[in-house]
Amino acid sequence: MGNMASAAPDIAAETGVAMRLSPLVRRVLAPNPSPFTYQGTQTYLVGEADLAVIDPGPMDEAHLTALLTAIGERPVRAILCTHTHRDHSPAARPLAERTGAPIKGCAPLTLEDDGPRADAAFDPDYRPDTVLCDGDSVTGTSWTLTAVATPGHTSNHLCFALAQERALFSGDHVMGWSTSVVSPPDGDMTDYLASLERLLARDESVYYPAHGEPIVQPRRFVRHLLGHRKMREGQILRLLDRTARRLSRRWLRACMLVSIPVCTARPAARCRRI
Ligand SMILES: [Zn+2]
Repeated sequence: MGNMASAAPDIAAETGVAMRLSPLVRRVLAPNPSPFTYQGTQTYLVGEADLAVIDPGPMDEAHLTALLTAIGERPVRAILCTHTHRDHSPAARPLAERTGAPIKGCAPLTLEDDGPRADAAFDPDYRPDTVLCDGDSVTGTSWTLTAVATPGHTSNHLCFALAQERALFSGDHVMGWSTSVVSPPDGDMTDYLASLERLLARDESVYYPAHGEPIVQPRRFVRHLLGHRKMREGQILRLLDRTARRLSRRWLRACMLVSIPVCTARPAARCRRI
């Protein structure tokens, strides 16, 4: 699914510069466009006198330099990560080393989960200084960011709500250009749908996704996402039902032909109508 009615129209992608989106929010686009990241990962800088950095992005020296330029002399209170995919969290540690800021955000996937739960996009080096749970807040001079647990795209995904502007940094849970990839074993469709429902109960007026333009009618957008997934689910269930009926006819025929003597096999032809 491409751009949807309630997302703002796309504007030219420019990497390396901080674009102002609101009094408290700027964003810097990383140079990592791909079929999975659209124009690239968008890192958000929140605050005026002091800052939070949300999703510092992939390990890319040019992007890191752009972030440091945009930060300037302002103190960074926290580096926040929505989840641990390679296009979101690897720059957290080098940025922490250069700014002195702590890394706060989603939990790392635990070691025993690395094998079966991790996929190729997983960042195994992510080590937060503080793990934020649902409802935990980080505060600066003119801003407060509160974690909203939104598992589904990954099991550890968090969104961050900025109360002062009724804004939500939606990471990869709700994106501005496409539906989210929900890839097992770590991704979970039931959790994803519940996390979308959770957002419907909130009252933010704009979402800032990690990929794609700001979403300016977010509840309508989320209802559209839920409707899209339920339509797909219905298609799959109908297909499974038809496939199961075909398989069960074949299976019954095979069982009957194996279990009856050859001389009496003719009646088994009736199985075609089962
Ligand atoms: Zn992701």
